[in-house]
Amino acid sequence: MAEKGRVVVCKEYNKPFEIHEYDLPDPEPGAIILKITQAGICGSDLHVWRGDQVNMPLPPTGRVMGHEGTGVIYKLGEGVTTDSLGTPIREGDRLMHVAVFPCYHCHMCLRGDTNWCVNRGYPPADIYPYFTGTYADFLYIPPRHPAFRVPDELPDDILGYVNCAIGTVTQGLMNAGAHEGQYVVIQGAGGLGLNATAMAKDMGADRVIVLDRLENRLRLAEEFGADYTINIQEYNTPETRVSRVKELTRGRGADIVMELVGRAELLAEGIEMLSNGGTFVEIGDIVRGREVSIDPSKLLPGKKIMGSLMYRPNTLATILEYMVKNQHRVPFHRIVSHKYPLADINEAFPQAEWDQRQTEVTRAMLVP
Ligand SMILES: [Zn+2]
Ligand SMILES: [Zn+2]
Repeated sequence: MAEKGRVVVCKEYNKPFEIHEYDLPDPEPGAIILKITQAGICGSDLHVWRGDQVNMPLPPTGRVMGHEGTGVIYKLGEGVTTDSLGTPIREGDRLMHVAVFPCYHCHMCLRGDTNWCVNRGYPPADIYPYFTGTYADFLYIPPRHPAFRVPDELPDDILGYVNCAIGTVTQGLMNAGAHEGQYVVIQGAGGLGLNATAMAKDMGADRVIVLDRLENRLRLAEEFGADYTINIQEYNTPETRVSRVKELTRGRGADIVMELVGRAELLAEGIEMLSNGGTFVEIGDIVRGREVSIDPSKLLPGKKIMGSLMYRPNTLATILEYMVKNQHRVPFHRIVSHKYPLADINEAFPQAEWDQRQTEVTRAMLVP
């Protein structure tokens, strides 16, 4: 009898998720089957659950849920002896896979921007190899898909959000050309903002300024390396926030502003916070159909607006090294605030939503 495993499926927006059961396939040569140990509830999963993306049609069979998460190697396909960097791997080893499954054939993939693959879509449910999301007992990693053995130095409880949250903000900073001596503004001190703060400091930022409306998140941002924080309830207009950022950047403005909240109007405000030549990085606003008006003349002195989505595979390898190096300085373990059994996913989602609205930072994890 074949072994079975559960997979969470979104059949219809605004309806409870279904949990389907499938026979676990044998890995084809070159493939890896991961036993999922934890899977994060990311903001984009909450958007799907809420139905914010109704203008993105679901596959007819529904879609498999979960992109962030990690596990241990359950079965290795024939011929797999190392991870993507040549480190030997065996069953039972912890593995961090790249959470983007691109086509490897489109013009974006061919030039290395696999995170911008034009053929990416929702993973359809009920189709071989079935285990294509992290809200499941297993994950099928196809041949040649990038994955890295997790360094032994890293504890389990900081691994769940690495391949979405940290990856995304790191790529955003890299694309914006982050380097030593810069002033960086982070809009929002949630899971993305906290990790962006720590990463910007590691990349050499002189000053990182974090904005949020919750004092406890701002205190946590300081633990992640923020030099200054701005409570937007105290600085409660765009004008006062912009002038505070100018003050904290010696009148220059920021070299990089990152939007990690998901509010369109922060684009207009962020452009005002930039120094000439600075770059605004849009990451948080993933829901289609929102609008903001800006004055294009403000861009003339070299200001740039850049979108960023997920990350290139090699960025994930860099991040694991960064975590080994920084785990005693950066309180990575503070990101995960709640854990739920996979079977309770339909209770976990409203709860995760509630937690984010109320106060508590951060990430909820589903544990099979
Ligand atoms: Zn592609
Ligand atoms: Zn995500």
